[in-house]
Amino acid sequence: MQFQNTLSFAQQLDAKDTLAPYKNEFTFPVINGKEVIYFTGNSLGLQPKRTQAYVNEIMNDWAGLAVEGHFKAEKPWWDYHERLAAPLAKVVGAKPEEVTVMNTLTVNLHLLMVSFYRPSAKRFKIICEEKAFPSDQYMLASQVRFHGYNPDEAIVEVKKREGENFWRTEDILQTIESVGDELALVLIGGVNYYNGQVFDMKAITEAGQKQGAFVGWDLAHAAGNIKLQLHDWGVDFAAWCSYKYMNSGPGNASGIFVNEKYLNRKDIPRFEGWWGTKKETRFLMKPEFEPMENAEAWQISNAPVMAMAPYLASLSLFDEVKMDILIEKSKLLTAYLEFVLQEIDKEIGSSTIFEIITPKERGCQLSVFLHGQGKALFDYLMENGVVTDWREPNVIRLAPTPFYNSFEEMYRFGQILKQGILKH
Ligand SMILES: *Cc1c(COP(=O)(O)O)cnc(C)c1O
Repeated sequence: MQFQNTLSFAQQLDAKDTLAPYKNEFTFPVINGKEVIYFTGNSLGLQPKRTQAYVNEIMNDWAGLAVEGHFKAEKPWWDYHERLAAPLAKVVGAKPEEVTVMNTLTVNLHLLMVSFYRPSAKRFKIICEEKAFPSDQYMLASQVRFHGYNPDEAIVEVKKREGENFWRTEDILQTIESVGDELALVLIGGVNYYNGQVFDMKAITEAGQKQGAFVGWDLAHAAGNIKLQLHDWGVDFAAWCSYKYMNSGPGNASGIFVNEKYLNRKDIPRFEGWWGTKKETRFLMKPEFEPMENAEAWQISNAPVMAMAPYLASLSLFDEVKMDILIEKSKLLTAYLEFVLQEIDKEIGSSTIFEIITPKERGCQLSVFLHGQGKALFDYLMENGVVTDWREPNVIRLAPTPFYNSFEEMYRFGQILKQGILKH
């Protein structure tokens, strides 16, 4: 498609967009009396309007039924989490029994490492990407120390090449091969939070497993953003948060995936609690733990239903729209934003201002290095109703999400950006 950087062209794309009505399903912050152009769905997704009713339902059941709500609410609390598994499995390409919702992301990665990082003197190394999300770095290092190993020896970071902004798959595969039979675990962010790169999860999973290691993925920036086929790729385990592209509210509950080959296995250790034991006998309060036959065996505490309600509301939107349709729009919208940035750059002339450091393997995030521009531009955008995200040293991250961003917004953003640059 031949794009044009004009209002009428952008409006034509919106007119053809079958997802356009979904913008009205979300609530936008207002700056200077106008709804913002929201580019930070990669950090905290907007609130779906329908979420309030899901939360109110729990509040009302609690008020009216109190303890009876566990079994007598219309959506009983004791198995509330079960409602999330089927729609969530579709989002991440899993079987429903491989998925559950519990705790929060870093906590879940720790719990999954209990099962899938069991180092020995010979096989104790972990491969991750350099400059992984800090929480993941702390998690990996603390796990390594917990097992009595030295993070400097055990953690092998795959680096980007000198002068390049992305990781090469061949370098990751090469590192996996060279660590060989010392490799215990590969754990990488499936979509990098900084440059928006999508890793080749299928190839990396296969390569890690070929060396006898487990392979897990932190899908914080992937769930609800890109096509995932966790089951078909043979991924061992994964976890993600619900508050980024999945629009389920700040700090909210996390999803996990455990490959079906590890369900019902006595040789896979876990940290256990009563919500992981068989639901049929859970309330008999017997001393022996009988694991659930699905990923729920990893659950520990009773379900935080107040946190699950917004996730269930959000999943009802994903279930209506389907990932393939979202991704189709996401690709077009992101390509249009890229085009608008290039056009504005040309119109301003002089030297290149916007360097997109996101490789072509991407979801909807574009990370843009600003040459000759500083934080003042970011502040200008915010004052003018454009919410972006600033990362040192000079990068803004823009995530046009297919659920609630329009093509017209990409055009309008370009115009605001141009004014901002001409002013500074
Ligand atoms: C957002 C994000 C997290 C956040 O972890 P929480 O435990 O939810 O605070 C972790 N890892 C990555 C890669 C992230 O992008």
